[in-house]
Amino acid sequence: MSLFDWFANRRKSVHNSQQRAEREIADGLWLKCTACGVLTYTKDLQANQMVCLECEHHMPISSDERIQHLIDSNTWMPINAEVRSTDPLKFFDRKAYSDRLQEYQRKTGLVDAVQTGIGNIETKSVALGVMDFRFMGGSMGSVVGEKLTRLIEKATNKHLPVVIICASGGARMQEGMLSLMQMAKISGALEQHREAKLLYIPVLTHPTTGGVTASFAMLGDIIIAEPKATIGFAGRRVIEQTLREKLPENFQTSEYLLEHGFVDVIVPRTQLKKTLAQLIRFHKFNSPTLISNESLEAGPYCNLAFQTEQHNSLTNDNKIEIMPQN
Ligand SMILES: [Zn+2]
Repeated sequence: MSLFDWFANRRKSVHNSQQRAEREIADGLWLKCTACGVLTYTKDLQANQMVCLECEHHMPISSDERIQHLIDSNTWMPINAEVRSTDPLKFFDRKAYSDRLQEYQRKTGLVDAVQTGIGNIETKSVALGVMDFRFMGGSMGSVVGEKLTRLIEKATNKHLPVVIICASGGARMQEGMLSLMQMAKISGALEQHREAKLLYIPVLTHPTTGGVTASFAMLGDIIIAEPKATIGFAGRRVIEQTLREKLPENFQTSEYLLEHGFVDVIVPRTQLKKTLAQLIRFHKFNSPTLISNESLEAGPYCNLAFQTEQHNSLTNDNKIEIMPQN
């Protein structure tokens, strides 16, 4: 082989391998971390719950993936899955709100920006709400509000803890005042849940902002956040312009909020299920709530271990091992 042919072949193989790499990225075999830029095999990332193996950056995930990560297999029972918006204001911006809704329903396979249901976390029954940022930025309209309110009310009736995974850009402007009133409605349901001495844990993921932060995201008995999530009410630029002050670099991050007492603990996604299970076991052990026989009758959840189990002593399982991050 002449030197010329050798170079030609080499150029061809480099070109082919580049093409193959591009094709593999395009096929979704490999994913590039948006924080550190490292390419990782998608299956490895998925096995690590979409947390970068290199820099621990938490990549966005869908509500389906969240449920899969948190809930024991074959225990998830969705509730009110078919509640949908009626577009009460017949809102129209660049396009009709009703068309926009249909577009997001088609893209995400969801009806609206939250999934709610009952399922087990390490065998303990929990009422879980999971917001999905892919659906109109996780905005809170009347469907999100209604579904979360019904979930919390069901949890109060069934003596279940509530966990809500928050991810939201705030209230849904296409539903105007009807979106804003959801803040008070959900907060009211949470107050009844609290009066029944039941546990509520919001988990703040990137991003949790606006009306969600101003209501149920901040009303938890224990408030958990994912690392480096943006959590705030108004946008950074608005605050800077109003105060005419430069804000710290890490302002409105999980770490800043932990330092200032708005968040109780930062938990990496891969540790979330274990942490929630520990907190639920610990609260149940210390809870004065008695489960009446009435609540054990009928209903699809009556045979769940959560309601029938009795603890006589503090086992290793009940010990809490959460260290706030610095
Ligand atoms: Zn990374």
